[in-house]
Amino acid sequence: MEKRLIDANALKKEVKSTFRGAIGLTVTGAVHEIIDRQPTIDPESLRLKAHWIYAGRTDEDGNLVCWCSRCEHGDRHSPGITVPYCWFCGAKMEG
Ligand SMILES: [Zn+2]
Repeated sequence: MEKRLIDANALKKEVKSTFRGAIGLTVTGAVHEIIDRQPTIDPESLRLKAHWIYAGRTDEDGNLVCWCSRCEHGDRHSPGITVPYCWFCGAKMEG
């Protein structure tokens, strides 16, 4: 299952209002403690990551020919220009 970011405070509020009266305060408190014990997810860790794979040649205009390691969509970059994200899949380029 893919991770997703949620609002823990909204979840605690929802638990409290959904189960109001149906379960005791002890159970509600226990659920809140479980929620509080969950690790905080760094949003950056969920970002798609990839790198440019360079073909080792240039096109007729001198641009570097490359493609995304994730979606394999081709691209051409002017030498010396940093392209931090894939234009097509949105992955952040590393390395
Ligand atoms: Zn891509």
